[in-house]
Amino acid sequence: MGKNLLIELGGVAKSFLAADGTARTVLDKVDFQLAEGEIVALLGKSGSGKSTLLRIMAGLIPADHGQVSYRQKPIYGPVAGIAMVFQSFALFPWLTVQQNVELGLEAQGVAPDEREKRADAVLEMIGLAGFGGALPRELSGGMKQRVGIARALVTNPDILLMDEAFSALDVLTGETLRNDMLELWDGDKIPTKGILIVSHNIEEAVMMADRVIILSSDPGRIRVEVKIDLPRPRDADGVEVRALIDEVYGLMTMRPAQEVAPGMPTTLHLGYRLPETDITRIEGVLDLLADTPFDGHADLPQLAEESELADEELFPTYEALGMLGLAHVDKGDIMLTALGRNYVEADQAQKQEIFGQQLLTHVPLAAHIRRSLEDEPSGNLAEKRFLDLLEEFMEADKAKRVLEVAIEWGRYGEVYSYDYHTGRLTLPEQSED
Ligand code: ADP
Ligand code: MG
Repeated sequence: MGKNLLIELGGVAKSFLAADGTARTVLDKVDFQLAEGEIVALLGKSGSGKSTLLRIMAGLIPADHGQVSYRQKPIYGPVAGIAMVFQSFALFPWLTVQQNVELGLEAQGVAPDEREKRADAVLEMIGLAGFGGALPRELSGGMKQRVGIARALVTNPDILLMDEAFSALDVLTGETLRNDMLELWDGDKIPTKGILIVSHNIEEAVMMADRVIILSSDPGRIRVEVKIDLPRPRDADGVEVRALIDEVYGLMTMRPAQEVAPGMPTTLHLGYRLPETDITRIEGVLDLLADTPFDGHADLPQLAEESELADEELFPTYEALGMLGLAHVDKGDIMLTALGRNYVEADQAQKQEIFGQQLLTHVPLAAHIRRSLEDEPSGNLAEKRFLDLLEEFMEADKAKRVLEVAIEWGRYGEVYSYDYHTGRLTLPEQSED
């Protein structure tokens, strides 16, 4: 790489203590570089460690392992050249807009009249001229975030880290603000040399970034990178942007092979991580997909729009549909399978039967529970037994969630029954027919 590196992370790992006292690895072996002149977008599911990674880069928290450097120097604490913008705006309610913006300069020991001059200039640049005396509560969300951005920019940061800075805003306001930022950047109106935005909005990432990086979950690792060689401003409805959004969608819904733990017994191998979604959502998306205008084949972004569900609800649902053989996800498209079509057209009892069958053939954990119950003379086992098994391969809270999904799905498919009071699993009662 000939380019000047601004930030460099090598083998970064970070764990936190969970409520039960066990360590939970949030980030593992993260290698990342931000070079001069680029905007990089970091995408990942909620909880994948995006904010943690940003806080490590900003020097707000230390990494447990690995190297973190800014312009070739190790980072030990907050760095003057790195500024951050937060989703929550993080403004002090009792300070005026002007005072909030000057805060960053005060910390750097800049003299009062110089502070005022620079704050004025930046407020003007970001579209807040005349609002210096206002209090945050007098401002709309979009204006508040302008203050958040102004406070970061007033320090003339070398690097700007934006943590979901536009996601608390309504769509139009977010877009406007994002475009204003890009105008400052592309027009060289700010001295900032590199921007890293964290987002869970794929379109935002594709519209802004030169590179999109996808972080996997549990632990967070950099999974793939998509380079975007399109001039800005970009046309959100243009073919290139739509194709890239499709591609990134596809990459995000793909299950990475490395998420399978190597030591796992083959019976549980693939089923150990069940997508966290419920039956209502699975069937809702299936119905939507089968219906007009899709007729069994949809572009993921379009389906997302139609469903009015968030990506975080949709991704696990797509994964479940794929896992159960009801739909097929390929890159940015989703297609109903023949079985999925039968499913949609089936009556309630048939639906549950298909669901149960698919569960037994495609979800090893469900099959394992069923087989264990059949082998058990009493036909009755405590859930704890399966929880313990899962905990050999994943952390306790995760094991609990996986088992919850397996139980919900299994009950629906009548593969087994579950008693909430006793926490015991049993073979389902024989139906009359
Ligand atoms: P993201 O920004 O991708 O949603 P975060 O970096 O905020 O993810 O969090 C990743 C995981 O780390 C979450 O499970 C979160 O609960 C956990 N976590 C983050 N900060 C702390 C902390 N200070 N103490 C304990 N757990 C934390
Ligand atoms: Mg976050």
